[in-house]
Amino acid sequence: MNVKNAMEILVDEALRNYWGQLQLPCKCEICKADVFAITLNNLPPRYVSNEDGYAYVKAQNFDDQSRVNILNQIVKATGIVATRPSHDLKPSSSQE
Ligand SMILES: [Zn+2]
Repeated sequence: MNVKNAMEILVDEALRNYWGQLQLPCKCEICKADVFAITLNNLPPRYVSNEDGYAYVKAQNFDDQSRVNILNQIVKATGIVATRPSHDLKPSSSQE
């Protein structure tokens, strides 16, 4: 069986587009993965079994409120990771 969570793909795309604009003290791959995981945990999964299913979810995402929801959850997750990074921040990298 080949079932995918379409939400994972949508969040990944949104994160790629907005990562540069997010306010985070550290933007390494660990922090990015943390934001990704927290965002996904706060959004309902949308499982699809084929490309048509994904295309449907994606089309819906452009039409309704869920695009805004995804962005809101990314911003929320960013706030959580910014406050409590899962690794130590080096003092020298705390300034931009
Ligand atoms: Zn980091």
